[in-house]
Amino acid sequence: MKTEFSLAQLADPDIAEADKILRACVHCGFCTATCPTYVLLGDELDSPRGRIYLIKEMLEKDRPPTREVVKHIDRCLSCLACMTTCPSGVNYMHLVDQARVRIERDYKRPLIERLLRAALALVLPNPALFRASMMLARLGRPLVALLPAPRQAMASPTLLRRIRAMLALSPGRLPAPGPAGGSVFPAIGEKRGRVALLQGCAQQVLAPRINQAAINLLTRHGIEVVLVRDEQCCGALTHHLGRDDDALARARANVTVWLAEAERDGLDAILVTTSGCGTVIKDYGFMLREDPGFAAGAAKVSALAKDITEYLSGVDLQPPQRHGDIVVAYHAACSLQHGQKITQAPKELLSKNGFVVKDVPESHLCCGSAGTYNILQPDIADKLRDRKVANIAMVKPDMIAAGNIGCMVQIAGGTSVPVVHTIELLDWATGGPKPGLKAPGLT
Ligand code: SF4
Ligand code: SF4
Repeated sequence: MKTEFSLAQLADPDIAEADKILRACVHCGFCTATCPTYVLLGDELDSPRGRIYLIKEMLEKDRPPTREVVKHIDRCLSCLACMTTCPSGVNYMHLVDQARVRIERDYKRPLIERLLRAALALVLPNPALFRASMMLARLGRPLVALLPAPRQAMASPTLLRRIRAMLALSPGRLPAPGPAGGSVFPAIGEKRGRVALLQGCAQQVLAPRINQAAINLLTRHGIEVVLVRDEQCCGALTHHLGRDDDALARARANVTVWLAEAERDGLDAILVTTSGCGTVIKDYGFMLREDPGFAAGAAKVSALAKDITEYLSGVDLQPPQRHGDIVVAYHAACSLQHGQKITQAPKELLSKNGFVVKDVPESHLCCGSAGTYNILQPDIADKLRDRKVANIAMVKPDMIAAGNIGCMVQIAGGTSVPVVHTIELLDWATGGPKPGLKAPGLT
């Protein structure tokens, strides 16, 4: 794609990066076929190619985003299916990330929208606030039936519709908190390794059992696990809201504490059980590339970051204890399959450990969770969830496995089939307890 940035514009490293990305796009349109919003809405401006044009125009002309541009960028899930499909290697992720920052900086949203986004950016990355808000939401759940039901996905969602989505996503009860930062779980038997495990923010409130399963499995296989003190939310939630000052501050804080831990007692990896977080931590090196104080450290952290299934693929797991022919529908989270290109490891691990693994039809399509998307764009998100659940039902599973808490909550909202994390099944298969709950905190 031809671009026309001035030399002065290209002196800005972000614009230089955008220019490189835009020039790689040959506007072939292959990406439109796998874009969930284009598949649902059929509008070119809700496709990757259409959004790329909008972003190009906004950056080249260096003008504030219009309402129309914001509408179509806001509808993007950042699912990155387009990056998997693109034959030219267009890095849509870095382009749309930049567009979101520009929108946040230069576009004045209506007051209610600004307040809602500020509240999400404040509450979600903070486990204590998130826990308190979930307890409040629990009281409000009976109101769901009184609030406006889903509308056409093309319509802009109202505040009441978003409140309804938030209440509907809140759990029926909250589990007790998991172990605190600073905890160390020694290896059982001969020590074979040492890893940090990301504590996460929403996940540690909704489903501490996921990291508990990871700790159980890892220590049982000789790997010491540390929950690093003073670790923060990885920044993914605010990064996707275009609030990069917040996201970068969190990234710097994490780089500092993780590298200190690695220098003090050694770390083979920083393991992540929420693939949405893993994708962003693996991008810290890029996000902080222009920060002389952090660029090298961030690159080191990105290299250490691994999805739990990626790491376990290199570990000799104990022989599985058979649990019968349990059919597991494997839901490929977008952040894992498109963001991190991890497609086989979770399925191979489940198969090797005695589960009958089924691929879900249209597995490239997002379930609609996408960070805060199911709150901010509930109508599109509901449609994607319903489509995902219908596709899952086609393989008649006994259980659904996924590697991302957001997907688990989203899918559990539309099905009675138990939804578990892949690590819970692997822990169970190799001697841990049977996963007990249907969905994170939803009983
Ligand atoms: S598939 Fe890639 S090159 Fe083709 S239009 Fe989409 S982003 Fe551009
Ligand atoms: S990230 Fe997903 S929703 Fe956004 S343009 Fe790409 S495929 Fe479409």
